[in-house]
Amino acid sequence: MAAPEPTSGTSPLVQPDLPLPSANTSPRYDPQKVTVVYILGGPGSGKGTQSEYLVRDYGFVHLSAGDLLRAEQDNENSQYGQLIKDYIKDGLIVPMEITVNLLSNAIEDKLGSDGTGKFLVDGFPRKLDQALFFEQSVCVSKCTLFLDCPEDVMRERLLNRGKTSGRSDDNEESIIKRFRTFVETSMPVVDLFEKEGRVITVSAVGSVGEVYEGVVGGLASKGIAPTNK
Ligand code: UDP
Ligand code: MG
Repeated sequence: MAAPEPTSGTSPLVQPDLPLPSANTSPRYDPQKVTVVYILGGPGSGKGTQSEYLVRDYGFVHLSAGDLLRAEQDNENSQYGQLIKDYIKDGLIVPMEITVNLLSNAIEDKLGSDGTGKFLVDGFPRKLDQALFFEQSVCVSKCTLFLDCPEDVMRERLLNRGKTSGRSDDNEESIIKRFRTFVETSMPVVDLFEKEGRVITVSAVGSVGEVYEGVVGGLASKGIAPTNK
């Protein structure tokens, strides 16, 4: 495979487990064998919580972009630790080569021996470049679950979570920045997929159970049924 070609000014990953996907090739995985469903929504919309239920009932492998980045940030051998730390605290989107590489490695790692897999990709793609790059080089997604939530509800949830999460970005200052990034940078991704008819919008206001009912109904409308029930 060709050497990585960073497109947004970062240096190439030093020892990637896999060669970085190239935007000029066809996707690494066939969507007939690898199902990718994105779960998107503003910070605090409940992506992680709903993902737990989806893993239980649908047999998805859960891949949280934020969790993968936090693990990389804490990995002493990573040359990107400080960079990731700074981006997360400021609510900014980490350069896509890093995130796409982490996700691509995680998919490869969790693939069945027959090359199939079902992945719920949480909190990604958050920027148009990531979305296009992932779809062109890793796998075309089946659909996007979009958790629609007003900012005042998200703010309250994040501040509550901040009391115990230990996350550097669950504080007033970071939350304001994350909301701005979500509206300016991430919503255009949802809008693009929406135009392609690939978005399931679910209201994320209410109890976890109420929201989950909407999620299950939305997936059913795309022909995705629970497997573990
Ligand atoms: N992040 C990123 N690229 C991604 C996903 C996350 O750079 O594709 C960074 C970004 O700084 C974001 C932070 O990771 O604000 C936390 O993401 P996470 O999904 O954990 O937050 P959530 O939205 O679930 O509260
Ligand atoms: Mg999350």
